[in-house]
Amino acid sequence: MELKKDTKQLVLNGGCHCGKVRYSGVVKDETNILDIPNYKCNCTICVKYRFWEIRVDPEFMKITKGKEDGGALKEYKFQPFHTIHYFCNECGAHPFGLSHINQLNKPFYFVNVPTIDGITPEIMDQLCLKTIYLDGLGDDFAHEPKHKKYL
Ligand SMILES: [Zn+2]
Repeated sequence: MELKKDTKQLVLNGGCHCGKVRYSGVVKDETNILDIPNYKCNCTICVKYRFWEIRVDPEFMKITKGKEDGGALKEYKFQPFHTIHYFCNECGAHPFGLSHINQLNKPFYFVNVPTIDGITPEIMDQLCLKTIYLDGLGDDFAHEPKHKKYL
């Protein structure tokens, strides 16, 4: 995590566990990660991955390692939601994905919070207090699911 001096944007660098997949995402108009909405979803794949997301505009997301020929980046397509989940074929970590589901119908990358460089248990504890829960299982992203503590 790095605050670009004299600008209102937060750079989220991060990657998989072994380091073969890396990304750099910029969140505009934010200087504190605690002010960026974070989401957890109860859909079948988010539950299996234990996914926890912060969204990044595709225009400001760079896959900096793993995408090259022979790189470790692999993708898994979750068809019902037209979502691509990216993972590392070496360590299996799942640092980000690409989705098209939101009110604006505009694609976005979703970065997995624990894969962000410099994220600490203290920051994650504070982020948890603001988590927005999505009922992906019920295909109702505008509302929280009935059961969410396990997410
Ligand atoms: Zn890896």
